[in-house]
Amino acid sequence: VSDLQAVLRDVPDFPKPGIVFKDITPMLADHRLFGRVVTAMSAPFRGQHITKVVGVESRGFLLGAPIALALEAGFVPARKPGKLPHKRIVERYSLEYGADGVEMHEDAILKDERILVVDDVLATGGTADATGRLVTRLGGQIVGYSFLITLDFLEGAKRLGPDKVTSVLTF
Ligand code: IMP
Repeated sequence: VSDLQAVLRDVPDFPKPGIVFKDITPMLADHRLFGRVVTAMSAPFRGQHITKVVGVESRGFLLGAPIALALEAGFVPARKPGKLPHKRIVERYSLEYGADGVEMHEDAILKDERILVVDDVLATGGTADATGRLVTRLGGQIVGYSFLITLDFLEGAKRLGPDKVTSVLTF
């Protein structure tokens, strides 16, 4: 964990003043660390019969796709509005300033599929919660949420249900 922590870069005031951004790109560039992260993020869900991993744009794609393969599950992208080509459903959520949304193809998940949602960082939980609502609307069951990093002071896990949330690192 300490060498992982060492390569996660804190970038102050990005993308806005007052936000300390966790940059995961040095971890992705190191194949051993990247492999260990994929193993650690998928381990709690081995044997839980996950059928699809949903990755949240865009760093959730980078982590979610290898985790899906590790769990022998399919991969589904949850994207920012206007990016998916086929028929889609949308969930909106509020940010500190303004609102955002997340979309999924309406045929991406079948009824009763067992779903793991993956993203790099859990902050307020707004993004993951909206993604969970998309999954539920399509009839999927949320088995859990797997994050690389949880920013605990923002209490996102409370919003998602603490028993469903796993994270490799917590700050
Ligand atoms: P939330 O919706 O407030 O939980 O914010 C989570 C979303 O914002 C995720 O998609 C993250 O990728 C992104 N995010 C929030 N804070 C950071 C950060 O410090 N580094 C990288 N991504 C972040």
